[in-house]
Amino acid sequence: MKFKISKSKIEGKGLFCTEPIKAGELLFTSKGLRTLNKSTTIEDAQITHKHSISIDEKTIHCPLPDDPLRFLNHSCDCNCYVDHEHKFYAKRAIQPGEEITIDYSFVDADIYWRMIGCRCNNKKCRGLISSSLLLSRDFFEKNLPYIPKKIRRFNAKFYGIPFTKYDC
Ligand SMILES: [Zn+2]
Repeated sequence: MKFKISKSKIEGKGLFCTEPIKAGELLFTSKGLRTLNKSTTIEDAQITHKHSISIDEKTIHCPLPDDPLRFLNHSCDCNCYVDHEHKFYAKRAIQPGEEITIDYSFVDADIYWRMIGCRCNNKKCRGLISSSLLLSRDFFEKNLPYIPKKIRRFNAKFYGIPFTKYDC
């Protein structure tokens, strides 16, 4: 692994690059999956299972205790993204010492979920972290290559447009 867990300025502990990472390089694969039953809402599940990422309105992915995903902080100008197989890739080149971050808005399908008061300290900070549906369709479409197919599908359904438009 080309990263280590260390204290973060964003929140608690984070993942920090230890060797140069190229754009598109595989960083890690997250293990663990949980499908919700009909009586649990995704909101309830996210409270019980911190560091989860949602797959659609009924399913969330929960990392195992030693999974790097547990330390992946949010940034509004992130340098990593995840695909539908829970493989995390570098979105751009990452230099040693840089914190590895993801945009939580790329991985959440719950339109009601939001975190107010982002601490990513970036010039492009939105101040609000929420699902891409709550941000804007423009935001979603601009970041399409970095949004897992299952979330693209969920959003396409929401917008009432064919799945082919979002390659999902
Ligand atoms: Zn931010």
